[in-house]
Amino acid sequence: ITVSALRETAAGERRVAITPEVAKKLRGKGLRVVLERGAGTSAGFPDASYADVEFADAAQVIAQADLLACVVPPHDSVFGGLREGAVVIGQLRPHGAAERIAQLTQRKLTSFSLELLPRTTRAQAMDVLSSQAAVAGYRAMLIAAENAPKFFPMLTTAAGTIRPSRVLVIGAGVAGLQAIATARRLGAQIEGYDVRPETREQVESLGAKFLELGVSAAGSGGYARELTAEERAAQQQALADHLKVFDVVVSTAAVPGRPAPKIITKAMVDGMKPGALIVDLAAESGGNCELTRPGERVGHGEVTILGPLNLAAGAPLHASEMYARNIFNFAELLVRDGALQPDFNDELVAKSCVTRNGEAVFQG
Ligand code: NAD
Repeated sequence: ITVSALRETAAGERRVAITPEVAKKLRGKGLRVVLERGAGTSAGFPDASYADVEFADAAQVIAQADLLACVVPPHDSVFGGLREGAVVIGQLRPHGAAERIAQLTQRKLTSFSLELLPRTTRAQAMDVLSSQAAVAGYRAMLIAAENAPKFFPMLTTAAGTIRPSRVLVIGAGVAGLQAIATARRLGAQIEGYDVRPETREQVESLGAKFLELGVSAAGSGGYARELTAEERAAQQQALADHLKVFDVVVSTAAVPGRPAPKIITKAMVDGMKPGALIVDLAAESGGNCELTRPGERVGHGEVTILGPLNLAAGAPLHASEMYARNIFNFAELLVRDGALQPDFNDELVAKSCVTRNGEAVFQG
């Protein structure tokens, strides 16, 4: 079996789906690894860092691959070059991607999108949403620290005492908790907020204070549900007062399959301190702040709102290491007795499947 990865071509994408460590593990399983030349370079893995791996140009890699691993969907034309029956794994973003699914079915490909994996204990080792959200949360807080006009930590110096920044993290999922942990390490005074009651303990265990706004909205599968109009109004009213004290707000709130909840209104931003900064990690799905523009820096009065995109690609080495391990752990489910034989009775295989031998399985 030939396992392959290409150099990612999406704008700004620096990660790679197969790292030297994972290439070695694949070789250890008796698989052949063929990568596009330079596939790992922008992640910090030059070709020479891969042992016992073959390199070729993109067209040759595509033509030989039995199992193609990607970070984000490649150009649709890549699927057209794969041999019939080949398997594609990665973050295929199948929601609303009719064209991509059509390409996958045309070539009779079998494909798996790891964002579709259930968030179960067994799936954790291949959970790309978690591994990449942790990178994004860390990076979002560093961007906040870099762009804020204040220090994060308290400093006692000959020039006087500097008070620590007050930081709020909205949404205490995987990204939010990592953002909190990062702000703590930088010495900020930090509070966390979420609508799932169980996050209180998680926020507090990181040494942050939990901001209680009296709205609780636990959904299914460990996720939040969307708030009702009344709940949203109550949340906004309670939050408006609190927001006035913070120097930095990092927002990460999301509800699966829905646009990001709008939590911070324009009026709330108007009430924030001069110099305050919002880093809206939900920018990709529309933003948690009404004023967020994806990928842009917005100045609103004295407040700045950043909507960074694809934050995980900004720490490509470790993001790739974690991602590639996720890929390896998932690939282990597909290869049995030296052949590519996905077991569709396994719920992890069945639930992440987008197309199977050219049949569309994913129901958007
Ligand atoms: P997510 O990206 O869907 O959402 C981020 C956070 O935003 C969540 O904590 C959510 O509660 C919060 N949120 C949603 N609407 C909000 C609102 N209106 N106001 C404030 N906060 C709001 O979530 P995620 O980080 O992917 O993880 C969510 C859950 O999945 C957690 O319970 C986590 O423990 C669980 N999880 C389980 C596994 C596993 O067992 N394999 C892996 C990862 C995560």
